Amino acid sequence: MTQLAQAPDEVRGEVTRITHWIGGKRVEGTSGRSGPVFNPATGQQTGEVDFATVEEIDKAVQTAKEAFPSWRALSLSRRTDIFFRVRRLIDEHREDIGKILTSEHGKVLSDAKGEVARGLEVVEYCCGIPELLKGSFSEQASSGIDVYSIRQPLGVVAGITPFNFPAMVPMWMWAPALACGNTFILKPSEKDPSASLYTAELLKEAGVPDGVFNVVHGDKVAVDAILEHPDIKAVSFVGSTPIAKYVYENATKQGKRAQALGGAKNHMIVLPDADIDMAADAAVSAAYGSAGERCMAISQVVAVGEVADKLIAAIKERIPKVKVGNGMDPDSEMGPLVTREHRDKVASYVANTPGEGGTVVVDGRESAPEGDGFWLGVSLLDNLTPDMKAYQDEIFGPVLGVSRVDTYDEAVTLVNENPYGNGTAIFTRDGGVARQFQFDVQAGMVGINVPIPVPVAYYSFGGWKASLFGDSHIYGPEGITFYTRGKVVTSRWPDPATSKVDLGFPQTR
Ligand code: NAD
Repeated sequence: MTQLAQAPDEVRGEVTRITHWIGGKRVEGTSGRSGPVFNPATGQQTGEVDFATVEEIDKAVQTAKEAFPSWRALSLSRRTDIFFRVRRLIDEHREDIGKILTSEHGKVLSDAKGEVARGLEVVEYCCGIPELLKGSFSEQASSGIDVYSIRQPLGVVAGITPFNFPAMVPMWMWAPALACGNTFILKPSEKDPSASLYTAELLKEAGVPDGVFNVVHGDKVAVDAILEHPDIKAVSFVGSTPIAKYVYENATKQGKRAQALGGAKNHMIVLPDADIDMAADAAVSAAYGSAGERCMAISQVVAVGEVADKLIAAIKERIPKVKVGNGMDPDSEMGPLVTREHRDKVASYVANTPGEGGTVVVDGRESAPEGDGFWLGVSLLDNLTPDMKAYQDEIFGPVLGVSRVDTYDEAVTLVNENPYGNGTAIFTRDGGVARQFQFDVQAGMVGINVPIPVPVAYYSFGGWKASLFGDSHIYGPEGITFYTRGKVVTSRWPDPATSKVDLGFPQTR
């Protein structure tokens, strides 16, 4: 396989240049604009990523456009064959990909490999593309007339992805897009861009033809060029809500199909009858895993009735056991935050909580490891109410808030009145209440005694309200629908002898 420019084991002290990938090879940027990439555990700059110009985006699109006709025409069995090889190569290299993720994002290696595994499930789903693209057929819809439906790819499509899942979220997009016969432009986060280049090399190795998968790096200039390019037919976006809204509005204004997944504030309701230990384990795992930098992280617990004091005590007891350290150390359970600025912003929510009337039960600033890394320990805030910033904002860090309410109805109202609607969970032993919650709650993904209900690959992922702009959820059956358009064929093979002029609207009876 092509040698990686940046082998993840060697932390070199020198700064690696991170280029675009266009037409099956690395292409250096010409804009003179670039951005730094850091190892969050050391605070050292390890890379400098090129930022694309409008012309470079156009070059990538033209390359993808040229690659489209033959990729689209490839038989389903050949495409499937390539996808099985993609699956095998990613599986074989999950350790390497994991190390790249840890060295640029900061998450612990086991979590990074878990991210690759969850992305790989989407690739596996796409290995079934011949089945997924099957149309329907109605024989004898009218006399001598058959009607059938087919789904066809859109052409060149683009994905714009966030920093927090630099391998998995791109897989949610490129796997169904390519499997359906589209060619793809990926614009990954400029904070941790190297996994995308590594993926490009694996896809090439697997037999994906040059030009079918391209990576362009950059900031708003690159994103705007994607949104405005007339040859890009669809845009998938995952990131924060303000940018998701911007991308959705501007992509659709240009006539593109768009799905834009945004931010979240995921509430976990704990009822008085819940198993306290199970709920506390779940809250700690779901709030502090990946340093809280997950769109499906639990950031707000809603404690109903007398459960609050017991639950907070159980969470507090577990917090000192969360080992914060370099993600490459197998003993670490939580790594640093992605950048210094983000760490400082997260810490400011903890600092401001007492002034807003909340209670800091555990202050993560006091337990941050020493060193130049972007460290912050885990924090627990109590008595948060909807008027407080720590409640309103998606903090996206290792900060868990607790709100206290008296009844189930008040708890559900909190969730339903929140502007976000990505995921939510309830912890209870009462099946009837759990079922009522599933009926009542306004969120796209619901967990019943499961804190992070990310759907398996054969369902689709997506939130409600400000967590998703557009109608289409990502991956799974909706992913296949998003990356294809339908065509219905009405066909007759008549006896020419029966042909006649008929000005009436076609009848089926
Ligand atoms: P972000 O919105 O800052 O960046 C996402 C992408 O948009 C990046 O590629 C970035 O380069 C680009 N971008 C940033 N600013 C832009 C601008 N002004 N104009 C155009 N493009 C711009 O998000 P992030 O900080 O990388 O990721 C964290 C966010 O992503 C959180 O809000 C999290 O909830 C969300 N997220 C959501 C999901 C989901 O499935 N709903 C999944 C993962 C992450």
